Amino acid sequence: MSDAVSLEVGSDGILVATMNLPGRPMNVVGDELMAGIAAAVDRLSDPAVKGMILASGKADFCAGGDIDRMAKWTQPEEPFEASMAMKKVLRRLELQGKPVVAAIGGHALGGGLEIALACHARIALADPRLKLGQPEVKIGLLPGGGGTVRLPRLVGIQAALQICGEGNDIAVTKAREMGLLADTAADRDELMAKARAWIAANPKARQPWDQPKFKFPGGDSRSPALVPMWAIAPSIASARSQGNYPALQHIMSSIFEGGLVDFETAQVVESRYFAACVTSQVSKNMIGTLWFQLNAIKKGASRPQGVPASKVRRLGILGAGMMGGGIAYVSAKAGIEVVLLDTTQEAADKGKAYSQGLLDKAVKKGRSTPDKRDALLARIRPTTQYEDLAACDLVIEAVFEDRAVKADVTRKAEAVLGAGAVFASNTSTLPITGLARASARPGSFIGLHFFSPVDKMPLVEIIVGQATSDETLARGFDYVLQIGKTPIVVNDSRGFYTSRVFSTYVMEGIAMLKEGVHPRSIEAAGLQAGMPMPPLALQDEVSLSLALHVAEQTRKDLAAEGRPYTEHPGMSVIRQLCEIGRVGKKAGRGFYDHGDEGRQLWPGLTTLYPVDAQQPAQRELIDRMMFAQANEAARCHEEGVLRSAADANVGSIFGWGFAPFHGGALQFIDAMGAAAFVARARELAAAYGPRFEPAAVVVQMAAQGGRFAA
Ligand code: NAD
Repeated sequence: MSDAVSLEVGSDGILVATMNLPGRPMNVVGDELMAGIAAAVDRLSDPAVKGMILASGKADFCAGGDIDRMAKWTQPEEPFEASMAMKKVLRRLELQGKPVVAAIGGHALGGGLEIALACHARIALADPRLKLGQPEVKIGLLPGGGGTVRLPRLVGIQAALQICGEGNDIAVTKAREMGLLADTAADRDELMAKARAWIAANPKARQPWDQPKFKFPGGDSRSPALVPMWAIAPSIASARSQGNYPALQHIMSSIFEGGLVDFETAQVVESRYFAACVTSQVSKNMIGTLWFQLNAIKKGASRPQGVPASKVRRLGILGAGMMGGGIAYVSAKAGIEVVLLDTTQEAADKGKAYSQGLLDKAVKKGRSTPDKRDALLARIRPTTQYEDLAACDLVIEAVFEDRAVKADVTRKAEAVLGAGAVFASNTSTLPITGLARASARPGSFIGLHFFSPVDKMPLVEIIVGQATSDETLARGFDYVLQIGKTPIVVNDSRGFYTSRVFSTYVMEGIAMLKEGVHPRSIEAAGLQAGMPMPPLALQDEVSLSLALHVAEQTRKDLAAEGRPYTEHPGMSVIRQLCEIGRVGKKAGRGFYDHGDEGRQLWPGLTTLYPVDAQQPAQRELIDRMMFAQANEAARCHEEGVLRSAADANVGSIFGWGFAPFHGGALQFIDAMGAAAFVARARELAAAYGPRFEPAAVVVQMAAQGGRFAA
């Protein structure tokens, strides 16, 4: 008997097989679990056993594949064999001739859902938090346990393409509607009772695809009804992915080809595509960063050890503008009492109204209730009085980006705060060490850099000033986790890490304009590179005047420090556009004309910057945008601004959307290899300027070996 699945036959002759992997918080699909299920199938063959309920002894039903194991596969044979071995067990399960019901009391994701699909019926708890789905595509994989074979045969090809291609969670109600579930249950007792009743009512259960007259719901891949869909699905997918995510193409191919052949052949087809995905560089990049490095960060890899865990009970926010209002919302949502201060009561109230707006919308859409909304709003107290901050354990300053204003509010807040309180600045550009000079206790001063819009963006960049203590850092880190966001920790520097590297992407695109590259080619290259927004459109969002302001400030600061300032060639374009009032989206005009119907590239752009007859290859433009970012990230590493490759990679994807398929700004270099990076960077430097000269740390790696990630 296996430890992974316990077996118990009741007096009604029904075998209850309970998955409960020893030593793991969740059930994951691997050899151990599959051996347990195989043993359960053996037991099912006992003539005294009438049927089987597959259940879970953990909170989830089964969380999916064992990613630790998958990450080690480099050759296709092993994953192909492992996938076929899993299928063999599941095929025996469904062909035993006795009914098997999956009793789903918690998440059934990836391989977990695939196991449930091999059961003759699925019944789930009617819990709105319960997640079903095939999320493999999100880490560059394809369901390898029969998901692309059974789903099209159960819910139809179109729905299967959506489930596997998008990878989103399916709520229980939706799953019931589409026929993925046979029934739902109010609680665990009802779940088991309904499973038993289903077995009693269906003693000869057979899967639809094992019936002699089986037909795909909605037709198989040859069906004329699906011709229009097959004609456009690949182009929709490639418009979304720019061809950068092979898993998406493989999923479509597996479903299409699997819909032309018999069940067993379709299983082999799927396992081949699975092996191709799991050994691909893209899945290695995504698993490495979005699984291993992200988990390490969440477990506190960048948090100083030895400082006891802390919680913020009362948070003060100075400045109830766009950022202050957003920070108030996410904090109150996490149960924190918030004091929201501004110069006038009206401004403070407006900051609170931002939460009201978001919550009203959520209630309208059924994602929240009036009670929950009111409780959250009751936690936000708008004020103009500094005394109200007295009991706060953390204060975040989000006033105007102005040193004098920030210094003033720092002093006023510290005058009323308790000795143990932490003071944080949400500045986007001003070095933290300098701002901390206004503080009477710089050890408790830190940067907490949020991204806009705060309620949507998952990252907070924590900036450690020269005097910031380990305890302050640990408390800032704990707060970021407390509000459900991902913290990265960086050392103080101009632009910190995210703003500094992000700007190289946008500025590279802008510099191309001046060289005569067609603006449309520039924008297309940004998207083809895998960035969420093209560079010119992005600069319009951020505003050209802000970029100019920051550049001027940097120039002044560096001059005051006696250090040289090298202007990026794109800056002259920004200056020129600002001079003619094209300052960005807020003004309705920048690189684009912005109207009610969206944006259109400003026609005057090509008059101001005439387009060359001979246009460069898109590859050249893409390389420039990506190498500029990766090289700047490497410089941040070299200068000690970055503290780990995990912070760099996760921060780049979550902070500014660095093409996720590359696995992050430093993984871009690790995946390519330092020598190849150096060679190409030098070519770019020769053609476009010294900003592409590879960072010394990469040159060293190219000579001596090594990589950023361990
Ligand atoms: P904003 O102009 O929307 O809000 C600033 C608020 O601060 C206003 O409500 C203003 O009344 C208030 N304020 C000004 N002086 C004050 C004082 N002395 N006391 C109390 N309140 C005062 O600005 P924002 O976009 O929310 O930015 C705030 C800070 O966050 C800035 O430092 C900015 O650099 C930083 N930041 C902004 C973004 C962004 O995308 N907007 C992103 C990250 C960080």
